Formats: sequence, C-alpha cells, structure tokens
Amino acid sequence: MKKTIKDINWTGKTAVMRCDFNVPLDGDKITDDIRIQAALPSIKYLIENGAAIVLMSHLGRPKGEAKPEFSLAPVAKRLTECLGQDVKFVPSDVVVDDTVRAAAKELKAGEVMLIENVRYRAEETKNDPAFSKDLSELGDIFVQDAFGTSHRAHASTTGIADYIPAVSGFLIEKELKFLGEAVNNPKRPFAAIMGGAKVKDKIPVITNLLDKVDILIIGGGMAYTFFKAQGYSIGTSLLDEEGLDLAGDILKLAEEKGVKFMLPVDVVAADEFANDSAHDVYAVDSIPDNRMGLDIGPETIKLYSDALKSAKTVVWNGPMGVFEMDTFAVGTKAIAECLAEIDATTVIGGGDSAAAVAKFGLADKMTHISTGGGASLEFLEGIELPGIAVIEDM
Ligand code: ADP
Ligand code: MG
Repeated sequence: MKKTIKDINWTGKTAVMRCDFNVPLDGDKITDDIRIQAALPSIKYLIENGAAIVLMSHLGRPKGEAKPEFSLAPVAKRLTECLGQDVKFVPSDVVVDDTVRAAAKELKAGEVMLIENVRYRAEETKNDPAFSKDLSELGDIFVQDAFGTSHRAHASTTGIADYIPAVSGFLIEKELKFLGEAVNNPKRPFAAIMGGAKVKDKIPVITNLLDKVDILIIGGGMAYTFFKAQGYSIGTSLLDEEGLDLAGDILKLAEEKGVKFMLPVDVVAADEFANDSAHDVYAVDSIPDNRMGLDIGPETIKLYSDALKSAKTVVWNGPMGVFEMDTFAVGTKAIAECLAEIDATTVIGGGDSAAAVAKFGLADKMTHISTGGGASLEFLEGIELPGIAVIEDM
C-alpha cells in the first residue's frame, strides 16, 4: 500500500502536486476539461486540510522551450472557476525562478498556485537532478497524481522525490486500486480483451496477462496478424510484420498455460478504409484478397459476449474495430454494452478504448476507466512505473 495525501498532517505544509493538465486546447480555449475536473478532489482535500498548494503539469510538447501556445495560463483560469477560489498563475520561461520561489513561500494555508509547463525546460524529461531539486524546494511534500505520465522518469514525476517525501493523490490511489486489484488479485474468471492496431506494442502485455487471466479475447486490427500466423489469408487487412512471429509464439504459450484464447470467427471486411465503403461479413478463412477487415463480425460478438457473461473481472485494452467510423464501430459498441451489463469489475485501459466507451455513453457503467494510456499498458505489462515506485509505502 502506498501512502496517500490522507496520511499526511498538512498543517503548515506546502504540497507540490504533479497533475495531468495536458488538456486539449483550441487557441487558449480548453475544449475538454475532464482532466482538470479529475484533479479537483485531491486539490480540494488539500485545501480543506490546511495545505498550501503548488500545482505543476506538462502540456503538449514544447520540447524544452518556452512556447506561449503551450502555456498553462488557460488551466489556471479554469481551475479558478472550478474551485471558486483564486488559483494564482506564476509564469516563468524557466519554470522556477526567484519570483516563483517567492510566490510559493508566501502561500498561506488553503491557497493554490500553478507554475508554468514543466516541459518548458529540457531538464524535465531528462530527469535532471538540479531541476528536480528546484521543483522540490517549492514545498515540503510531493503529491503524485498524474498517472498518465507516471511511466516516465521525469523531474516532476520521479526526480523530485529524491529531495522530499512523496505520497499519491486520489487519482493515483484509484488507479492502483482498480488496475492493481484486477491484475494481481482478480475475482475469477478473469478475462482480458485486447484489441487495437499493433500486435508488437501489446505483445508484452499479452504475455504478462497470459500468466494471470482465464480468458484472453483478441479483436481489432491485431487479430489479423494472428490469423496470418495461423496460415489464413487476410486480404488487405492490417498486418504487423514485426509481430508475426511473436503472434505465433503467443498462440503456443496460451495453449501451454491453459488460457482460453479467443480469436474472431468472423469479420466485417471492406474495400477501403472508409466509413461508406462497401463491406460484408466473412468467416476468417474466407477474407477476400481485395478487402480489409475493419470490425469483428456478428458471430464473434455473440461468442465473446457469451464468454464474458461469466467473468468476474474484465480488463479491456484496445477497440474491436475501427470504432471512429460508425459502420465499423458495431463490434466495439457491442462489447462495451456487454461490459456495461455484466456483474463484474470492469477496467478500461488505453486511450482509444476509453474514448470508445465514452463515445457510446457507457463510461459511468464501467468500474474504472484508466486515465493513462501508455501508463496503464505498462502497468498491465507488470512493469513498476517509476512515478509510482517513488511514492512511499505505508
Ligand atoms: P488503445 O488506445 O485503447 O490502447 P490502440 O491505440 O492500440 O488502442 O488502437 C486503437 C486504434 O486501432 C483505433 O484507432 C482503431 O481504429 C484501430 N483499429 C481497430 N481495429 C482495426 C482494424 N481492424 N484495422 C485497422 N485499425 C483498427
Ligand atoms: Mg491508442
């Protein structure tokens, strides 16, 4: 168990809190503030418990330079609105300077300030000790609450904890609870659903999960590499050449480990990668040479839904088809609806899978939707994330 902000007596202390305020912007307008909303419970807890609060985050990829289009100024404004109290933005092209230090020192209990985009400094992503120390000196305790960057050892996610004690905020606590429980202590049967585009990216996850799951369900673009490995022709479907041998290995490994490994039995294949393309349903052994598989077929949906009905824990990473196009969103939607209905702990990891579930309006029907795409994948791989490792144990 990792320490959280609840394990600290905040009276007279300043929290330096790493958030994920990497919000989509249109000019200086925030087009989706879900990440800001998500950070509010931890910030409010700190305010109510007498901490002074210095917030930090990255935004986009300014690549170590002060670029105004990546300024966190709009975030400070939105935070001020959401919290109903002033969140002082203290900008600096070098992120931490004497003005920033003075502002942090002057903060009183319950006051909140935000410093500039930590990626204005190249030292951030290099996990530079001097920059880490500069950040640490803005307060007394490091609060890690940016799960989405916790798989990166950066100054503001990892290095800072060399200088001051680290605890987690509520977002990280929740990620560890649901992702951690699902992977390490699941109620069984435990099913994982893997989809998305590339096999190669997800092989380590599949390999790790094969030791843990009872059922492994494959969909999406990666299925075709498995079909190819089984000797089927896949037409113009997505093929991950580099992942081909690995797919064969996975098939063998699943058999050795006695995991129920499920591949689609039928697919929806189209002439081209377009929503309005002509398309039909094919059994996996009869995909025409000139067509590409863009979704799982109706038999597969039935098969997968049946298999998932008995599951008590489900982890889902990667859509079943090209869900961005309505024509090929049917399989992904059906699986999302299935997960929404079953009596199981359902955990969604992966940026596109989370987007798909949100698109179908089913987000609140899932037990947990991870806020970190890459981070949740590495977590599922069984890798200890550097930004989590630094958080003190109870
Ligand atoms: P996640 O972000 O949930 O981890 P990925 O990034 O691995 O998922 O994969 C998502 C992408 O995979 C989506 O953009 C989707 O359109 C694409 N995809 C799914 N099925 C197919 C397919 N059959 N052919 C091509 N692309 C696909
Ligand atoms: Mg993705």
